[in-house]
Amino acid sequence: MDEGTIGRTLAEWGEKPFRARQIAEAKRAGARTWDDVTTLSKPLRQRLAAVGPLWSVTPDERLTSRDGTVKWRLMLGDGRLVEAVLIAHAQGRRTLCVSSQVGCALACRFCATGSMGFGRDLDANEIVEQGLIARHAAEQDGARLSNVVFMGMGEPMQNLPAVLEACAAFHAEEGLGISARSIAISTAGWVPGIEALSRHPLPVRLALSLHAADDQTRGRLMPINARYPIANVLAACRRYCDRTGRRVFIEYLLLDGVNDSAADARNLAALLRDGRFHVNLIEYNPTDGGYVASPVGRRETFVNALANAGIDASVRRSRGADVDAACGQLAARGPSPGPSGPVGPRRT
Ligand code: SF4
Repeated sequence: MDEGTIGRTLAEWGEKPFRARQIAEAKRAGARTWDDVTTLSKPLRQRLAAVGPLWSVTPDERLTSRDGTVKWRLMLGDGRLVEAVLIAHAQGRRTLCVSSQVGCALACRFCATGSMGFGRDLDANEIVEQGLIARHAAEQDGARLSNVVFMGMGEPMQNLPAVLEACAAFHAEEGLGISARSIAISTAGWVPGIEALSRHPLPVRLALSLHAADDQTRGRLMPINARYPIANVLAACRRYCDRTGRRVFIEYLLLDGVNDSAADARNLAALLRDGRFHVNLIEYNPTDGGYVASPVGRRETFVNALANAGIDASVRRSRGADVDAACGQLAARGPSPGPSGPVGPRRT
C-alpha cells in the first residue's frame, strides 16, 4: 500500500499522523507483512490488512551472482513482473538498478525488455519499494545503498512524473537519504523527457543510451531514432548541460561488428567533442537478440581511440551475467507483460 493511501485511511479512521511514520519505519526496517508492524495494535493491523497488503511489490525470485550482484524478479499487486538489480562495489557501496515500467514500448533490438512489449507504468510507490527492498538487502550484507540508476525495465522518461516522485523519496532524509547526484535517469533518447528533466529542481543525473555514432546504425538498434535522431537528442542533452551545469553520461554498448570499429570510435569522438559528456562503454550481456559482445582487443582499441581524441571514457564491466542481469532477462522468463497477456509467475 502506498503512503498516500495509508495516510488517508488512517486519517479517515481518526488515527494519529505518527502511525503512518511508524509504518514507513517498519517497512524500512524489513517488515514484510502487517503482522510484522508490531508498533501498531493488533486490531489496527487487522483493519489495515483488510484494506490491502503492506507492500505493493513482492520478491518473487532472488538470484545472487558470483560477483555479488543480486537480481530480483518482483511481483506487483496485479501479478505483473519487473526486475531490480543490486550491484556490489568496493568499500561496501551498492548501486540499485530500478525498473520504471512493466516491459517497454521502445523495442531496442539488443534488449530483452524491448522484446516483451509494453505492459504499464509503475507508480511511484512501486519504484520506491524496489529501493526499500534493496536497501534492506545491502544493510544485511553490511553495505550501504549509495546510488540508484533508472536503467532497469522501461523508458523512465515516458513515466517521468512517477519517476521524479520516486527520486524525491530516494533522496529524502526520511526516505533513503541518497544524494541526488547519486541518482541517474537513463533514457533511450526521449527528447521531451530530457527537456522536462533539465527544468526539474532535483539535481539528478542524466544518462543517454546512444549505442551508435550514426543514424543508420542507431536506427537499426533503436527504433526511437526515427523519431528523435542523434542530432536532436544530443542538442537536447546540450540544453540540459547548459541549464543544469551537469555533464551527461553517454551509455554505449560495444557490439561485435555492429558499432565497435575504428570509424565508429572516430565518429563518436566527433559527436562528443565539446567536453559536456562522459562515455561509459558497456560490455554487452547477451540476450536473445543475436548480438555478441565486442572482443577485448577491439574494446581496448575503441577506448584508446576515444582517449586520443580527448573524450572522457571508461569501461563498465558486465555484472551478474550468470544471473541474467541484463535488463529484462529474468522477467522475460515470466509471462508476457502486455495488456492482453497473462499475468502471474511462471517460475518461482
Ligand atoms: S533498452 Fe531501455 S528503452 Fe530500450 S527497449 Fe530496453 S528498456 Fe526499453
